[in-house]
Amino acid sequence: MSDTVGVEEKIPRNFITDIIDEDLKEGRVSKVATRFPPEPNGYLHIGHAKSICLNFGLARDYNGTCNLRFDDTNPEKEDMEYINSIQNDVKWLGFKWTNICHSSDYFDRLYGYAIELIQKGLAYVDELTPEQIREYRGTLKEPGKNSPYRDRSVEENLKLFEQMKEGKFKEGEVCLRAKIDMASPFICMRDPVIYRVRFAQHAITKDKWCIYPMYDFTHCISDAIEGITHSICTLEFQDNRRLYDWVLEHISIEARPHQYEMSRLNLEGSITSKRKLNLLVKEGIVDGWDDPRLTTISGLRRRGYTPASIREFCRRIGVTKQDNVVEMSALESCIRDDLNVNAPRAMAVLHPIKLVIDNYGEEGVTDTSYVVNNHPDKAELGTRTISISKELYIDAADFREEANKQYKRLKLGHEVRLRNSYIVRADSCVKDENGNVVQVNCTAIPNSVGTNVEGHKPKGVIHWVDANNCYFGTVNLYENLFTVANPAGAEDFLSTVNPNSKTVIENAALELSLKDAKVGQSFQFEREGYFCVDSKYSVVGKPQFNLTVPLRETKKEF
Ligand code: ATP
Ligand code: MG
Repeated sequence: MSDTVGVEEKIPRNFITDIIDEDLKEGRVSKVATRFPPEPNGYLHIGHAKSICLNFGLARDYNGTCNLRFDDTNPEKEDMEYINSIQNDVKWLGFKWTNICHSSDYFDRLYGYAIELIQKGLAYVDELTPEQIREYRGTLKEPGKNSPYRDRSVEENLKLFEQMKEGKFKEGEVCLRAKIDMASPFICMRDPVIYRVRFAQHAITKDKWCIYPMYDFTHCISDAIEGITHSICTLEFQDNRRLYDWVLEHISIEARPHQYEMSRLNLEGSITSKRKLNLLVKEGIVDGWDDPRLTTISGLRRRGYTPASIREFCRRIGVTKQDNVVEMSALESCIRDDLNVNAPRAMAVLHPIKLVIDNYGEEGVTDTSYVVNNHPDKAELGTRTISISKELYIDAADFREEANKQYKRLKLGHEVRLRNSYIVRADSCVKDENGNVVQVNCTAIPNSVGTNVEGHKPKGVIHWVDANNCYFGTVNLYENLFTVANPAGAEDFLSTVNPNSKTVIENAALELSLKDAKVGQSFQFEREGYFCVDSKYSVVGKPQFNLTVPLRETKKEF
């Protein structure tokens, strides 16, 4: 596939590139340093791709650096499996990090900075319960109130914090809070918790620590330690920027990274919350994090999306501060455009019925094979040989006993062209006990391959495979995983799962060449859509195929 398309393509100008240009011009920054900071509590999704393309793309375009940083401060939710999958997905998307870092690399230093804040009288150990802390915090309309523990002495705070570290307190019994302003209009500034007690095993530091720093304390310091210049996050963190700056201002660290916020990607009919994705996986509603119906990076990969198509999608949606919802068709058109240019064609009959050529073997109807182009406009994709014999398969949808003029396929007494082959006229059909047509008998027009024949003007072309020389394979069709456009907004999002989102066709009749298809290959099944080889259940000589996208945009019905 077109693995390199777009890797070198510059990010279109946006408000962040404007800021960077200005910073470089004014000499505030000499080398651009960004980071992509996922929490390793799940697999990456399409929303992360937006952040990856921006952060790694800026480093590429400005000749700077981009770190992959695991923001691993919630030990109970994090796992090595996630760390590995994240690295794999970033690489697969076509990006290289400068350094791999972990917030946990800085636990010693973070602890030191917490002590510095205590010594400066800017942090205290609180004994309010988590519920009380919430109560005392106030609301947007009402200021909070001070904790009775807010004015402990520095010595007492140092001693208690030390005891927290030594495991003398239970989870939730105490925490360390920054002493800022309980009346601040920004709730995040009302004495935010910066350290809490957790006795879980950490994926990397194991049980070295039983206190863990909170996101707002960790992130800005990690950015400063790594020399990040532009720290890009999503709009929900706009208020937290005050806390980001406050922490850096009050500890002895020189670097001054800046936080910038962009809108997050919301994709219609899709979930981009790791917590919710995790639920779908754990409940067995989907077939793992890489289920082709999920818009995780691994799901999209298994669905047949190429790295270039995902990068192109991120390029098209751009980077702004306006929250919006992107239609799924915008993502689909990126892979369709890619595969239209790059995928070889093949014939696959998803709902096979027999087509018997009664005059096969007679004068002018003796072909046994054809050499056909794999792609209509790309000679470099080569040719292949397809066989033909007296018995073929065509799709049940391509035959009707009777139909009006709009029906351009095969009907009794009328003609159609078989793709790459003869014009045929349907003469009769055979039905099973339920009245379904299982066989059509036809007459081929002699010498009609690749040419018009006087008196014969077929209105349509249908695809087929040789019934005596084909591969019966499994084809998986997909529809929206959810029945609503905004599943994340539903009260019970699991109840919005579409029970018909996957259809398995066990015995599709596929042209024989598809038997050798390998994982990573995609095809256009002519007149059907784009399909890829499933990476989970295919075995050599017995590939399964997943629908990537239909040939044309279909309006999503929600
Ligand atoms: P989740 O709620 O799924 O855990 P998150 O925002 O907490 O998502 P992180 O792993 O913490 O995910 O995020 C890593 C980076 O990816 C952050 O910088 C975050 O801003 C960015 N990111 C996550 N989701 C999106 C999204 N939908 N659109 C754009 N950027 C995103
Ligand atoms: Mg998170």
